[in-house]
Amino acid sequence: MAAGFMAASPVLNQLNLEETYDFPLLDLHVHTTNEFTIKNILELGEKRNVKFGIVEHPIFWALRNDDDLKKYIENLRKYPVYVGLQPTYIGWHKNYSPELIAKVDYILMDPQTIPVENGEPMQIWKFDTYVENTEEFMERYMDYSLKILKYEPINIFAWPLFLPVCIARDYYSLWTQKRMVQLIDAAKARNIAFEINDMSHTPHDKFIMMAKEAGIKFTFGSDSRNSNVGRLDYSKAIAKKCGLKPDDFYVPVRKA
Ligand SMILES: [Zn+2]
Repeated sequence: MAAGFMAASPVLNQLNLEETYDFPLLDLHVHTTNEFTIKNILELGEKRNVKFGIVEHPIFWALRNDDDLKKYIENLRKYPVYVGLQPTYIGWHKNYSPELIAKVDYILMDPQTIPVENGEPMQIWKFDTYVENTEEFMERYMDYSLKILKYEPINIFAWPLFLPVCIARDYYSLWTQKRMVQLIDAAKARNIAFEINDMSHTPHDKFIMMAKEAGIKFTFGSDSRNSNVGRLDYSKAIAKKCGLKPDDFYVPVRKA
């Protein structure tokens, strides 16, 4: 009896490993650190049968200038990964040469660093984000999201529909049909894909189905810099539930 019981778990593991998906397993939102290197990432990718896109921030404390950007691209080209950028503020591209920006495979941006007049930008992923007036926040958040979708040179809109912790319980009432349609229309107009974010479990199935209906493509993103890269449990499950097929996914073109 004991042996029979013991046998159950390897079988389950095997089933899990052999689970097949109709779509590409590609985690396009991965960061490296000094401790968690490209080699660690590729090892996990091998194990999990996932391919990766790496992103870095074009900003004064990361890729400061053309020189940094050039080195970043050249270094990653040695590896079988897509090379991406993740800007965090509007107008970032003016600080780099267009020829160099054109060398990355894709650009992904999220609306989580929201500018505030005469103050430090809100960083809404932070646990202690303070929202004084929910409706006012939502208006500001929508304005900023639409600005990104309308004007920024990006391929992927990351973390769609994420909400700060303090108002997250109102997700389904705050994401009204009207707001969802505004985001979808703006993304559609410029052929921007939506990330299915594995860390925040957003967006939800209804939004994915609406976006799919509009012909929008999707990507998976863990936004991780640790051994969570390529796990994609939420992303895979919700994509399966929504019946996404290879055609529904945005896959960058490697430029070198
Ligand atoms: Zn990121």
